[in-house]
Amino acid sequence: MTESAPVPVMVNGFDGSGLAGLPASTRKLIARREAALGGAYRLFYDQPVEFARGSGVHLYDPDGVEYLDAYNNVPSVGHSHPAVTSAVARQLATLNTHTRYLTDGVVDYAERLLATHTVGPAHAMFTCTGSEANDLGLRIARAFTGGTGVIVTGNAYHGVTAAVAELSPSLGANVPLGAHVRAVPAPVPGAEPDFVAGVAAAIADLRRHGVRLAAFLADSIFSSDGVLPSTGSGFLARAASLVREAGGLYIADEVQSGFGRTGSQLWGYQRHPGLVPDIVTMGKPMGNGLPIAGLVARQPVLAEFGQRARYFNTFGGNPVCVAAASAVLDVLADEGLPANASSTGEYLRSALAGLAASSPVLADVRGVGLYLGVDVVWPATGLPSAELAGAIVNGMRARRVLISATGPHGHVLKIRPPLPFGRAHADQLTTVLSEVLATLLPPAARGYGAADGCECQANWDCQAVRPSAFGPLPTNRRPTTRSAGAVDRAPDGWRIGMSQRLSSRT
Ligand code: PMP
Repeated sequence: MTESAPVPVMVNGFDGSGLAGLPASTRKLIARREAALGGAYRLFYDQPVEFARGSGVHLYDPDGVEYLDAYNNVPSVGHSHPAVTSAVARQLATLNTHTRYLTDGVVDYAERLLATHTVGPAHAMFTCTGSEANDLGLRIARAFTGGTGVIVTGNAYHGVTAAVAELSPSLGANVPLGAHVRAVPAPVPGAEPDFVAGVAAAIADLRRHGVRLAAFLADSIFSSDGVLPSTGSGFLARAASLVREAGGLYIADEVQSGFGRTGSQLWGYQRHPGLVPDIVTMGKPMGNGLPIAGLVARQPVLAEFGQRARYFNTFGGNPVCVAAASAVLDVLADEGLPANASSTGEYLRSALAGLAASSPVLADVRGVGLYLGVDVVWPATGLPSAELAGAIVNGMRARRVLISATGPHGHVLKIRPPLPFGRAHADQLTTVLSEVLATLLPPAARGYGAADGCECQANWDCQAVRPSAFGPLPTNRRPTTRSAGAVDRAPDGWRIGMSQRLSSRT
């Protein structure tokens, strides 16, 4: 066995610390799951939650207790939407085959899907997962360019296959990037020109190492980089032209941002002035929970691959999944969900900005449509705080509102509900968030201090949060060296600021 980097903590991952507070039946299910499933699976939250049913923007636990879902983008037209359910049931009761027989459904769907894109004449191909779509996009780009080099952003996530895990820095140090991969700084607010300079530097570095560029692969909303919706001065189009000048292709990963999530324009790349991708990959919300994903590629780009290779993905684009995907397009249009994403998203964004204005813990609020990110910081320093973000996420879960966190430091609240999310739901979320923020008052203001054994100053500078609200700090998250700085002297059981890199999965 070779020595490896410490196992990174997954953002919002369950670590066993909250087990004791769970009902006996949930503890038993966790134990059975651990005995039966491979160890690489992770659960969400300090206290994982079990669901038995979903409807619209709500999930229900086995006792029928309702949770507001402000996190899941796969059931994007709503959990168990009746139109999707009946389309799937009808098709499953009629015929389910594959793309080697003629069926009209897949052709109809491809025509409808292509009509929503703005990349010029294009073809569609279907897979089962977003990972497979990116994997196929990579093969197409390599066939077209003759190159192997790929540029991604610093904390990108593009999937699970061997090829795309190598393009996913967010998987952490134990999943190394490929030798042909360069990660560039993400376009954080205000630093978009640095991003373009980073792409230029990566192109030069690949060239210096004799690696020919195949593609730049970018999530159109940079979700695992911390939710970065800025389109500032067309920086993505500028990056794309640098890539093309170097012989590469621009692949827009719309697995997160597609199908109306960012508002009326349906696709995240369409928000970026002048950006015309060569390949667009899609997944997650495409079938509202049925495994369908795929890509569209400009015809000249795909022609090369189509001549040289054969592609058959057994379940990719099967009639049942296509029926789900068609129903999703119908519901998006019939219920005006992309427009709702724009208007409710803006309503929620401004409510969150209002909350942030009066909270020392919340900093930048970003978002477009129903994809929002809120930076959580230590008030004394303004530095990112994964610990406070985790406390907020778990505090909201305890009050039955589901969100999560993301970003390279795990400090960005990730709010990404199903698209029928309305203003009343946004109000509920904001109210619960402000209740949770009230529990995060500085220890001094809550009457805690040196008497509690805190050796550092009993105020926000000690960067510790009283444990009672959120349970003790799990053993595997305790800083073991002085590198955590002064904060490592806080008493046992207090949550302590650390600079540990978090691995974010989306
Ligand atoms: N790309 C992005 C941007 C994603 O967020 C994900 C999934 N979180 C994927 C690709 C991979 O999709 P899948 O899990 O369906 O393989």
